[in-house]
Formats: sequence, structure tokens, C-alpha cells
Amino acid sequence: MVADGVWFAVGNGTLYTMSNTLVIERDEDVVIVDSHVTPAAGAALRESIAVVTDKPVTTVINSHFHYDHAFGTQAFGDDVQVIGHEYTRARLAIDPLDDPTYLRSLDRFDNTLAEVEARLASADDDEREGLEIEASFWRAHVESQGETDPVAPDVAVSERLTLYRGGREIQLHWLGRAHTGGDLAVYLPGEKIVFTGDMMLGRPSYMGDGYVGEWAATLANLKQLDIELVLPGHGEGFSDLRIIDYVQAYYNDLHAGVMRLKGQGFSAEEAAARVDLRHHEDSLGVSELGADLLAVRRIYDLADGVAE
Ligand SMILES: [Zn+2]
Repeated sequence: MVADGVWFAVGNGTLYTMSNTLVIERDEDVVIVDSHVTPAAGAALRESIAVVTDKPVTTVINSHFHYDHAFGTQAFGDDVQVIGHEYTRARLAIDPLDDPTYLRSLDRFDNTLAEVEARLASADDDEREGLEIEASFWRAHVESQGETDPVAPDVAVSERLTLYRGGREIQLHWLGRAHTGGDLAVYLPGEKIVFTGDMMLGRPSYMGDGYVGEWAATLANLKQLDIELVLPGHGEGFSDLRIIDYVQAYYNDLHAGVMRLKGQGFSAEEAAARVDLRHHEDSLGVSELGADLLAVRRIYDLADGVAE
């Protein structure tokens, strides 16, 4: 529990939940922000919520469209109201199972399972038990992926929406493009808590669908809120707001560095290998030369007008 009637759900250990969920209890019902990665993980989340309250989950807010935050929604039934940014609505309503970020994840999980099964095949008795648990964990995940039937928001937000029901104020803010085109920050002004999804983690986020050149400005808008606790879509919550400054500086330097290399004629692959962000080692632990290739390709594609 992070405040009275507010929980930060980070997974239960037996299923792959992958991302965090914010659980907000109101007088008569429960609102959640994000729904975990698969229908099975969503069902496990629903069961964990039932342990702390017998009120029904009536509302699911999507922080953004990514599968690892949105593909558990179907576990909450057909009557639940789903709220997301209009960009999120578009991405989840039109072919979400063909999304490149999702398809890459399917390959990654299939490979992880195959690798664990290969290790299990040649394991000695000491290793076998642990590897069997690991294999069944990944098998359950891959199986549940196949049952996914994504649910798109039925309420779309363009910039701002506030829910007042049940003795609780819940503000939804679109603060600009960042991790995706439609990130919502969910802010509880009474508790001074903000759930940021992946627009703000305790470190740089996945940038493959992001707007690196605009991200720092969006985070500047986030800092306008009166915040005591940031709860991100992955990892631990934090109260040290200097972390936002560090991440802003990283995105600005990454974008400028990559655009400079692009201007000098380097390919995205070369730029990803050469861009030097090691001056962010003290603040963010960046100790190696280079940056994530998907992030650099994304910067190139936006600059070249082949992505939007
Ligand atoms: Zn994401």
C-alpha cells in the first residue's frame, strides 16, 4: 500500500506480470491503471486485488498501448470501462497483435523458453528443479499470450480528464509525446502520487516507439505537478525527483548526439555504436559507449519522415 486505499502491484512471482499496476480503491469500486501483460497475468492481478478489497474493478486506465501494460484487460470482463489516450485507442483498436514491438516480444519469449528447455535437457539433478520451475513459468506465459484478445479504450482522452467519483480525485494528464504518442500520467492530487507508466521510469525507457527529441519537454510538464512519489510502469517507485532531471538530460544528449552523427553521414547502426553518453554514468550508470539500436533507428525514422 502506498497510500490509504492505493496499492502499487508489482507482480506475484508465479506468473510473468512484466509491468506494474496502480490499484485505486474508491467508495464503491476500484480503478486500476494498466492490466499486466497477458490474460493470465490480468486474472492473477484481479485475484490479488480481491485479497485486499471486495469492491469490483469497474475501470481500467491504459497508461499507453504497449502489450506489457494493456494485454491483461480482458480478464476484467466486458462491463469494465477502459480509458486511454486517443492515440492508445487507435493503436489498440487497429491490429494491435501486428504491432512490431509486440511481435519482437513474442520472438524474445519463445527464444527464452527454448533456451530454458535446452538447458533443462542437459541439466544435472542439482539444476533440474530450478530449471523446471523456470520452464513452467515461461511456458505459462507463452501459452497465455496465445489467448490475448486486446481491448481498446471505450473512453478516449485528448489532453485531460478528471474522475471525481467515490471520494477520490483521479487526474489523467497527456503532457506531450514521450514513450509513445499517447502516454497518460495518472495523478492523485490528494495523495501527491503520480503513476507514469513508461514515460518516466527510474532510468531511460524503451525508445523504439518514442519521441526522444520531445521527451524532455514532456517530462518538464510532468514536473509541474506537485509530486511526492513517482510510481513507474516498471521497477521501484521513487521520491527523488532529480532522477527526472537525469533522464531528461540523457534523452536530450542522445537525440543531439545521434542527430550530429546522422548529419555526418553515419548509418543508424554506426551512430548507435558511436554515440557517447558515458557522462551519464554517475547519474544513470551509463558505462558503455553507444546506445540502443532501436532507439537510434527510431530517431532516424522520425527525422527522415518514415515514421510518425
Ligand atoms: Zn511501454
